[in-house]
Amino acid sequence: MKRIDGKEIAAQIRAEVKEDAEKFFAENGIKVGLAVVLVGDDPASAVYVRNKIKACEEVGFLSSAYRLPADATQDEVESLVVQLAEDERIHGILVQLPLPGHLDAERILALIPTEKDVDGFSAENLGRLACGKEGTVACTPLGVMELLARSGAEIAGKRAVVIGRSNIVGKPMAMLLLNANATVTVCHSKTKDLASICAQADILVAAIGRAKFVTADMVKEGAAVIDVGINRVDGKLVGDVDYDAVAPKTSMITPVPGGVGPMTIAMLLKNTLSCAQRSLR
Ligand code: NDP
Repeated sequence: MKRIDGKEIAAQIRAEVKEDAEKFFAENGIKVGLAVVLVGDDPASAVYVRNKIKACEEVGFLSSAYRLPADATQDEVESLVVQLAEDERIHGILVQLPLPGHLDAERILALIPTEKDVDGFSAENLGRLACGKEGTVACTPLGVMELLARSGAEIAGKRAVVIGRSNIVGKPMAMLLLNANATVTVCHSKTKDLASICAQADILVAAIGRAKFVTADMVKEGAAVIDVGINRVDGKLVGDVDYDAVAPKTSMITPVPGGVGPMTIAMLLKNTLSCAQRSLR
């Protein structure tokens, strides 16, 4: 059994992005730019934004946080996003979610141009993924593909099962695995015989949000198991997979924390760089 070290793989990706961003600057005289919009003062969101800005600075991007008060109006947030959309120095726009309840998040996100949608959440980008066209893919499922590839997992021809069908994790995850020629099944809360479907998987991705949901009997001997879940139990972070019981059966598995989590920011950096590169084409 191999324990996939997400921290180490994320560090490799950040180093690669740094090198490519320097090359991009040397060739074009342009710094890669990311704008992060934070509305309100949710402490967890503030930490996420700070970490994203710090990661950008470490790889030499130009990055700024645009902070608006919790009582900002829909018009104020929309005007900021429109202004960022028009700013040529900015290649990626990220609106930190969740937004305060009085705001219409969907309308705000729709103002981010597809080519600056570094989170890959837009219907256009999700559609491009479904059609196998170039676009930006959501950071977390893209990070899972990197973990699999860099850990030597074979994907083509394998049976993959994804538990979860959200637009930001489960669906893009399933499409990425399908595009990589796996035979993919997507499970969700209405799935019958979920345990026996999971037990057929060569690659099992859990993106549910329920602590230790995946137990040893649901896992095939030799499977690659990727745990996307983040759950807080008694102050501790726990994944969707019962790691201690499942790990001995697997060929490779991600821990929580230290598996998929660190990949998300690394892939955000990679997506921002790709948006900058595409902006010159
Ligand atoms: P959502 O809540 O949007 O989706 C959860 C999915 O799990 C749904 O499709 C739901 O099915 C399914 N589900 C819920 N309960 C069951 C059940 N009992 N049996 C089968 N399926 C079930 O969550 P997200 O996709 O946003 O996130 C999933 C997990 O990944 C969360 O723990 C989240 O914190 C974590 N996450 C981690 C990230 C990271 O960086 N590591 C980034 C993003 C998310 P249905 O559609 O039928 O309701």
